[in-house]
Amino acid sequence: MSHPIVQSSREAQTSDVDAHGTPDWLRRELGEVVAADRVLGRPIELVMYASDASFYRLMPQAVVLAETTAEVAGLFAYSRRRRIPLTFRAAGTSLSGQAQSDGLLVEVARHWRGVQVEDDGVRVRVQPGTIAARVNLALRPFGRKLGPDPASIAACTVGGIVANNSSGMCCGVAQNAYNTLASLTFLLPSGTLVDTAAPGAARRFAEHEPALAAGLLTLRERVLADAGLTERIRTKYTRKNTTGYGLNSFLDFDEPLEIFRHLLVGSEGTLAFIAETVFETVAALPYRITGLLVFPDVHAAGQAVVPLRDAGATAIELMDRASMRSVERKPGVPAYLVGLPPGAAGLLVDFSTSDPAELAALERVAATLVAGLDLVVPGEFTPDADLQAQYWAVRGGLFTSVGAARDTGTSVLLEDVTFPVERLADAVVDLTALFVAHGYPDGVVFGHAKDGNLHFLLTQSLNEPAEIARYAGFMDALADLVVGRYDGALKGEHGTGRNMAPFVEKEWGATAIAVMRELKRLADPDGLLNPGTIINDDPQAHLRHLKTTPTIESSADRCIECGYCEPVCPSRELTTTPRQRIVIRREMVRQEMVGQTPVLLALRRDYAYMGLETCATDGMCERACPVEINTGDLVKGFRAEQHSPRTESAAVTVARRFAVVERLARVAVRTGRTTAATFGQRSMLGLTDLLRAVTSTDLMPRWDPDMPPPAPARLPRTSPVGAQAVYFPACINRIFGPAGGADATTLPQALVAIARRAQVPLVIPDDVAGSCCGTPWQSKGYTDGTAWMLNHTVERLWEWSDAGRLPVVVDASSCTLGLRESGHHLRDENRLRLAGLTLLDSIDFVHDVLLPRLVVDTRLGSVAVHAVCSVHAAGSVGKLEALGAAVADAVVNPVDAGCCGFAGDRGWLHPELTASALRHEARALADDPHDAYLSSNRTCEVGLSRVVGKPYRSFVHALEEATRAMEPPASTGPGLTGALMRSARAGRRSPGRGGGASLPGPAAGSRVG
Ligand SMILES: Cc1cc2nc3c(=O)[nH]c(=O)nc-3n(C[C@H](O)[C@H](O)[C@H](O)COP(=O)(O)OP(=O)(O)OC[C@H]3O[C@@H](n4cnc5c(N)ncnc54)[C@H](O)[C@@H]3O)c2cc1C
Ligand code: SF4
Ligand code: SF4
Repeated sequence: MSHPIVQSSREAQTSDVDAHGTPDWLRRELGEVVAADRVLGRPIELVMYASDASFYRLMPQAVVLAETTAEVAGLFAYSRRRRIPLTFRAAGTSLSGQAQSDGLLVEVARHWRGVQVEDDGVRVRVQPGTIAARVNLALRPFGRKLGPDPASIAACTVGGIVANNSSGMCCGVAQNAYNTLASLTFLLPSGTLVDTAAPGAARRFAEHEPALAAGLLTLRERVLADAGLTERIRTKYTRKNTTGYGLNSFLDFDEPLEIFRHLLVGSEGTLAFIAETVFETVAALPYRITGLLVFPDVHAAGQAVVPLRDAGATAIELMDRASMRSVERKPGVPAYLVGLPPGAAGLLVDFSTSDPAELAALERVAATLVAGLDLVVPGEFTPDADLQAQYWAVRGGLFTSVGAARDTGTSVLLEDVTFPVERLADAVVDLTALFVAHGYPDGVVFGHAKDGNLHFLLTQSLNEPAEIARYAGFMDALADLVVGRYDGALKGEHGTGRNMAPFVEKEWGATAIAVMRELKRLADPDGLLNPGTIINDDPQAHLRHLKTTPTIESSADRCIECGYCEPVCPSRELTTTPRQRIVIRREMVRQEMVGQTPVLLALRRDYAYMGLETCATDGMCERACPVEINTGDLVKGFRAEQHSPRTESAAVTVARRFAVVERLARVAVRTGRTTAATFGQRSMLGLTDLLRAVTSTDLMPRWDPDMPPPAPARLPRTSPVGAQAVYFPACINRIFGPAGGADATTLPQALVAIARRAQVPLVIPDDVAGSCCGTPWQSKGYTDGTAWMLNHTVERLWEWSDAGRLPVVVDASSCTLGLRESGHHLRDENRLRLAGLTLLDSIDFVHDVLLPRLVVDTRLGSVAVHAVCSVHAAGSVGKLEALGAAVADAVVNPVDAGCCGFAGDRGWLHPELTASALRHEARALADDPHDAYLSSNRTCEVGLSRVVGKPYRSFVHALEEATRAMEPPASTGPGLTGALMRSARAGRRSPGRGGGASLPGPAAGSRVG
C-alpha cells in the first residue's frame, strides 16, 4: 500500500468540535427518545467521550446514556430515521478504535450493571455494563470465575469483553467468551429482541428475521463450499484471532440463531446490542507455583514455550530484553535483572491448581522441565507469595516503565498479533528485526506466549506527517510478516476496530471478506451500527482520525488514556473521570495552540466544576493507574493557580491560628445546630446557599442537616507517665463529637478506654490543638499553608513522641496517610524527623496491638464495614474486616463500595459528589440491614451516614462497647514494643495496586495486554 498522508495536524483535531456542542434540534429529538438529562451535548461532554484507549479519536455529535432496551430500540429507530450512525460505548478501554463515533455515542455501562450468580456459581447472569472484576468478586465464594481474563479486567465491562472477544494470559481459546457464553439477549437494529435461551427462541428468530436467518445459512454454505477457507478457519481458530468476524461460527453450528449468537462474540458492536449475558464459569485456580526463567536469547525462550505449555503451565508470559530492561531498576523486581546479558529473554511461568495438595506434584513437573533448559539464571518455581509478587512485578511494571519513559508528545502504540506457537521463536526474532528496520529500536515485545499471542509497545509521535508515514510503512510490513510468513492473526484479542480493518481481507482473503460484508448487510442493512469498524472500504482507515498528544502538565502528561482509573473515581457518574479530566485538558491545549477559541472558552468555563471542583483529590486514580498518575495532583495544581498571593497568605494565617479556628469551628457548629433547631433546617440551608451564591460553592460548605454536634472542648484526661504511645486525635475528631448526642462517648474517649483495658496507656498531648495533617490546605491547593501546617505538626509530633521513642497513634485513616506521605512539603530537618517517627493508624494499632489483649463479651449479629481510600492505600482492608469480625458474627464489605468522595470537606462543599459516589453502596445496603456500620474516618462516616442512611461510626466505638465488661489484665506482658513496631512496619508497607477490586489469579493489577 502507498500512503499519501491523510491527516495529522493539530488543527485538524481542533476543528472537529463546535463551541455550541450538539445542535439544538438533535438534542431536542434525542430528548424525546431518552430523558433529556441523559443526552450530553456540551463541548466538554463531547470532548470527554471522543477518546477511548486507542490512538484514534472521533468527536461524537451527541452522547446518550441509555437506560433500557426499549430506549436502545428507540435510538436504533432514530438513527435509521435521521441516518446518523450509532456506536455503543461501555468502559472505553478498547485499543483499536472501535468504541468511538462521529455520530451518536450510546453509553451502555452506567445503567447496565448487575450480577446474578446461578447454580452455585456454575453460571452467572450479567448485565453488559458490569465491570468484569466485579463479576469475579461475586463468584469468588464459589471458587469460580469468568473464563475471559483480559489484563484490563478491573476496568472493562462484560459487554466489552463479549463484543471484543477479549482474552488474557490464562484463558487461551478454550475459555474465551466464544466458548463460555451460555446464552445472551440481543437487540437487532430492526428492533427484534431475542433471548437465545428462551424456549422457542430459534423459531421466533427465524419468524421475525427471515432474511437474516436464511442469509446466515446461505453464508454457511458458501464457507463450506470453499475447502481451502474451511481448512484455514479450522486451523486459525485453534489460536487466538479477533481479526474480522468469528467465521468459525459457520463451521461450529448449523442452526441460524446459534450461528448468530456466536458471531456476536467479537462483533465489536457492529451487528446488534448485547442486552444481557449468561456465562458458564470456570474453576478459579488460587494455588500456584511461579518461575521466572531467563534464557540467553529470545529464540531460546520461544523454543521452551511448547514443552512448558504441554506440561500444563497455566500462564507463560514472554518478556524480551527490552521489556526486562524497562523495569530492572524498579523496586520489588529481582535484583539480577540489571546484570543480564544484552540479548536475554524471560518466560514468567505459572502452574495453577484449585487443590493445594497438588502443588508438590506440580513442583516436581516444573523442576524436571527446568533441569533440561539452558538458562542464564538458575530457574526454580516457588509457591512463596512474596517471591511470586517479585516475579510478577517484572511483568506488571512493564507498561508503567514504557509509558513513563515515552517522550512527551508521543503516543504509546500497543499492538497484538498471534503466531503459531510452534513458530514463536522465529517470529519474535523477525518482529524485533522489523522494529529496527522501521526505526523503532526501542520496541518492547511481551505477551501470552502460551497462545502465541504477542503484544508490542512502540512509542512515536502521531502529530507529524512524517511520523505517520513511518507508522504506515511499519503496519504494511507487519501485515506482510504476520500473515505472509506465518499465517498468523493481526489481532489476537484486542479486536479489529479501525486499526486493522484495512487488513482484514489481507488476512482472510476475498471469499471470507465477502462473507463478512454480507453478514454485516444482513444484520445492519442501513450500515449505521458502528460503521468503519471491522469492515471498512478505506485502505487508509487506520491512518485517519489519529489522536494527537499535546504536552500537558507533567503530573498527567504520561497518561495513555487507558481508562483503568475510571471505575475507582468517586466523581465518575457525576461529572468526569480522571481520564476525562486529562482528555479535556489535552483538548484545551490543542485549542490554545490555535488561540482563544470559543471552544476553549466553553471548555474552561465547564471544567471549573466538571474537572476541578468535583475532584475529591483522594488519589484513588493513582492506585489503579498503570503509569501512576494521580489526577488529583493535576487538579490541585489548577486550584493552586487560582489563589492570589493574598489568599495564600490568608491560608497561612489560618494555619498559624488553627487552635483558635478549631475553637471557633466548634462554636459555629453549635450555633448552626441551634439556629437549625430554632428556625428549622431550611433556615440554615437557605443561609449557606445564599453565602455560597455570593462567595463560592467551592469554599463555602452547604449546611448539612446531619452535621454532627461539636466535640467537648476537653479531650480525655491522660498521663505521660507510663504511656506507651502518643495519641494524636485528628482535628476533625477534636471539632466534631459523636452523632449520638452530648452524653455519647467520643472517639478519643473510646480509644483511650480500650487502650487502658488492654494495658497500653496512651497520652494525648496537652497542646494538641492547632496541629493537623494539612489536608484542608493541601486539597485546595494552598501550598504555603500546607507546608506551614505540616512542618509545624511534624515538629510537634517529634517533641511529643520524645524524638521518635514513642509511636504515634492517629485516629483518622486519611490523616495517617496524609502525614506519612507529607515528605515533599517538609523542610530537610523535618523530613528526617518524619522518617524517625512511628505513625500508626488506629486500624493497625487496634488490630495488631490492642485486639490480642482485649476480651469481647458482647457480640453483634452482623456489621457492615466501609474501608476508606487511605485504608485501601495502606493495605489494611483485611484488618478492618478482622476488627469487624472481632465484634460481630458476620461482616459485610459491599463489593460496590468505593471512595465516598467526602475528602475532608468536599462532601460539605459538594454534597452531590458524595451522593453520586455512594449510590451503588447505598443500594447494596438498602435491603440488607446490619447491627452496626463501621469505618475509620470521621468525615467519610458523615457522608456515608447521609447517603447510605445508616449510622456509620468508628470501629473503635464498637470495640469499646463490646469490651466494657472486661477486667484489665494483670500486666502489660512482654513484647509490647515489638508489637507496636511490627504494626508500624505493616502500616507502612506499600499499598497493593490495581484498582478497587483485589482479584484472584496471577498478577492482578497493572498488567497490560
Ligand atoms: C491497558 C490495556 C490492557 C488491555 N489488555 C487486554 C487484554 O489483556 N486482553 C484483551 O482482550 N483486551 C485487552 N484490552 C482491551 C480492552 O480492555 C478489552 O477489549 C475490553 O474487553 C473492552 O471492554 P470495554 O468495556 O472497555 O468496551 P468498550 O471499549 O467500551 O467497547 C468495546 C466494543 O464493544 C462494543 N460494545 C460495548 N458494549 C456493547 C454492548 N452491550 N452491545 C454491543 N456492543 C457493545 C463497543 O461498541 C466496542 O466496539 C486492554 C486495554 C487496555 C487499555
Ligand atoms: S483524585 Fe479522586 S476524584 Fe480526583 S480524579 Fe482521582 S479518583 Fe477522581
Ligand atoms: S490517568 Fe492513568 S489510568 Fe487513567 S487513563 Fe491515564 S494512564 Fe490510564
